[in-house]
Amino acid sequence: MAKTIVVIGGGVAGMTAASRLADLGEKVILLEREDQTGGHLRQWDRLFPNRRPGYEVLDFLMENLEHKVDVRCNQGISSVSQQPSGFSLELEAGESLPCDALLLATGFDLFDAHKKEEYGYGIYDNVITSADLEMMFRSGQKITTRQGDAPSRVGFVHCVGSRDEKVGNLYCSKVCCVTGVKQAIEIKEQFPGAEVFGFYTDLRMYDRHFEEMYYEAQQKWDINFLRGRVSECAENQDHTIVLKIEDTLTSRPLKMTVDLMVLLVGFVPSPETLRLAAMLGIVVGEDRFLEPVDEHTRSNFTIQPGVFLAGASKGPFSISNAIADAGEAALQIHEYLRTL
Ligand code: SF4
Repeated sequence: MAKTIVVIGGGVAGMTAASRLADLGEKVILLEREDQTGGHLRQWDRLFPNRRPGYEVLDFLMENLEHKVDVRCNQGISSVSQQPSGFSLELEAGESLPCDALLLATGFDLFDAHKKEEYGYGIYDNVITSADLEMMFRSGQKITTRQGDAPSRVGFVHCVGSRDEKVGNLYCSKVCCVTGVKQAIEIKEQFPGAEVFGFYTDLRMYDRHFEEMYYEAQQKWDINFLRGRVSECAENQDHTIVLKIEDTLTSRPLKMTVDLMVLLVGFVPSPETLRLAAMLGIVVGEDRFLEPVDEHTRSNFTIQPGVFLAGASKGPFSISNAIADAGEAALQIHEYLRTL
């Protein structure tokens, strides 16, 4: 008899795993809380490192789902419980959904920049996040300050909400350095005469072609990267932003004024992931992301038989890594279902 797998989460990892499982002949139901699939990718304009439009990847994932997977949007889950044979999900709409296996592909949230009060997000007009900037790029309009002026000086602040003991997030979010480099280049593409600065702790250009993009940013676009921590910001009467920076190479304090300050916000676990993990008895790490049984050899398995993990519910992931991880999860689930 056909087995049923429920994939929870319709972002990149959930969409990939669902379509792969369907290709392997499984009956798949994909539950998404929002009114459409696509997750954070829907808000992204161009992807690193090659700056291809994000919609190309989104369209590819959407097409792969079509006619193969039972996709159900606007589906909140009230509860999930283990049954003698498989699991039972109670949906907020009142429906009961039995299944043989579950994949948690519940993704991540972006760090809430309001929590770093010293940066003035939500208070100063021209302090925005990398997600806000990406939406501005996506709108197709020229980037301006909140007052409608072309920015002549732009600063990017790295590690906002990551590698930061004060907010309880010691981990690196992996992709915000490369996002900052990509966005800095995109600012220069629009405003070749603008001065653009990146204030970093370390530059972590970990994947293929990332380092080359960093060289391009410096050599072709003359973007300045300064190793330093932004300690506080203030707003001038003309709405420019004054930054105080501790230069961690020279140990000298710096002061700089920019027209636009971009906070490179990192990943945090979503409350929904943690709620489902508690219901299912899944191990949560000290960083609050979900723990697989073995991060090297069984990275899609949980301690609960029949419950699997994919993508950023386990920690920061790039889109390409989330797709690869979800493909592996699909194979592992397919093998597991054959044992039932
Ligand atoms: S990727 Fe870069 S900006 Fe992001 S947390 Fe790591 S070091 Fe900081």
